[in-house]
Amino acid sequence: MEKYDVVIAGAGIAGASAAYFISRKGFKVLLADVKPFHRAGDKPCGDAIGKHHLDELGIEYPRNGELEGLVRGIDVYSPSEGMKYRVLGEGFEVNRVAFTQRFIRLAIDNGAEYFQETQVKDPVIKDGIVKGAVLWSRRKGSWEVSTNLLVDATGMSRALIRKLPREWPIRDELNPTEMNVAYREIRELKKDIEEPEILRIYVSKDKAPGGYWWFFPYSMEPHTVNIGLGVQGGRGYPHPKDLLYTKVLNRAELRESKVIESGGAAVPTRRPINTLVWNGIAAIGDSAYTVNPIHGGGKGSAMLSAWCLSHALEEAQGKWDNDALWEVNKCYMSRYGAKQAALDVFRMFLQELSDEELEYGMRKKLIKEEDLNTVSLKGDLELGIVDKAMRLLAGLRRPSLLLQLKIVADYMGKVKDAYMNYPQKSKGLKAWVSRVDDLFSEYRARLYKK
Ligand SMILES: Cc1cc2nc3c(=O)[nH]c(=O)nc-3n(C[C@H](O)[C@H](O)[C@H](O)COP(=O)(O)OP(=O)(O)OC[C@H]3O[C@@H](n4cnc5c(N)ncnc54)[C@H](O)[C@@H]3O)c2cc1C
Repeated sequence: MEKYDVVIAGAGIAGASAAYFISRKGFKVLLADVKPFHRAGDKPCGDAIGKHHLDELGIEYPRNGELEGLVRGIDVYSPSEGMKYRVLGEGFEVNRVAFTQRFIRLAIDNGAEYFQETQVKDPVIKDGIVKGAVLWSRRKGSWEVSTNLLVDATGMSRALIRKLPREWPIRDELNPTEMNVAYREIRELKKDIEEPEILRIYVSKDKAPGGYWWFFPYSMEPHTVNIGLGVQGGRGYPHPKDLLYTKVLNRAELRESKVIESGGAAVPTRRPINTLVWNGIAAIGDSAYTVNPIHGGGKGSAMLSAWCLSHALEEAQGKWDNDALWEVNKCYMSRYGAKQAALDVFRMFLQELSDEELEYGMRKKLIKEEDLNTVSLKGDLELGIVDKAMRLLAGLRRPSLLLQLKIVADYMGKVKDAYMNYPQKSKGLKAWVSRVDDLFSEYRARLYKK
């Protein structure tokens, strides 16, 4: 039986970048995906990525075929569209396939093996530890490989994590309200797009309940735009495609535009998974809930989780137990997860606001453009921003909103603290999870009481 240090299931951006980061440290890596190479990373997406993510990980900017557009900033529109916040920040619209393929090629150059059109079907568990995986391809049928670490990078499907014993903390299942269901099309418009380097986000409970709709131009291809709409899951809201067609595509600028590509997918919008590693298996990317709960961007944080895993493997110096690999949690939670968890608190608050409240908040600039920059591009909401907004609200005589914002600020602080104090060893995990679960239950009870 072939033996690997690391077997990675899924060659989306998380798995492909993990294969690259891990193989360059000299580990023997196998990367497998059910899709063929020409569809690597091809999942419906807004395709936007902040430059800071690439800078942080020392990744070269997309060029040539990898680049669909340059981004200078984002306009966020209020429900009536009467108010607009401009958040400046550089980034890219990427060609998701070419960008992902870059990492697969680099991993192969480093010596990694890559199997396309190959499904990782099952984890092989012996004596309570994952020791291998069963693979399947149409050409070869089923076979087993042995590995020191199996990585679930299968996105929202969590194809391997779902098969683990229920009591393993890495199972940490998703509540349907903690995801967005989204649909997007790439369209060619008849007219020029004004300011093609500015992405547009439209917040509206009527059009996109619990989410938003977006208009992301590809500035390298005049007239081409990535346009989509996401709604919160588990609430019985209409299908995002229906909403896009009935509430958005009838706008004058979009009429008679031509569909080039279309598709939908779900995206997790919650705090990070409780642990990214357990008993011989790790989770990264969407399968570890690394997506930003507010804006749904997940490519940058998927790559960060992959990088943290490679860093943990190096630190572990040939050991593979939970404590040896615990660095992946410490790295991810302190660098990004704590902020994401605090934003999850904010996400729940935003999803409860009516259009009238959202309009009011934006009109009165409760949170300013420069503050939104921090939220949308860095995935961070400084608690000081909420304090400022609270002072404003106090003067504006909206006691219910003020009271709620006070609760939100309080729990954002508590949750961030809890994640910054993530257990140093695996034996502290159970008590920590129960503390964090209690915090979220308390918060939900207070938020939804109104
Ligand atoms: C509509 C939409 C718009 C979005 N817009 C943005 C955006 O503008 N910017 C941004 O940063 N993020 C955006 N996101 C989020 C982003 O797309 C994801 O966070 C990111 O693609 C996650 O990458 P991943 O590698 O974890 O998962 P995926 O991209 O889902 O990759 C998982 C891979 O695993 C493979 N796989 C599944 N099961 C198996 C198996 N059993 N064996 C082998 N292979 C398997 C799949 O074929 C797939 O290739 C958006 C998401 C959606 C749905």
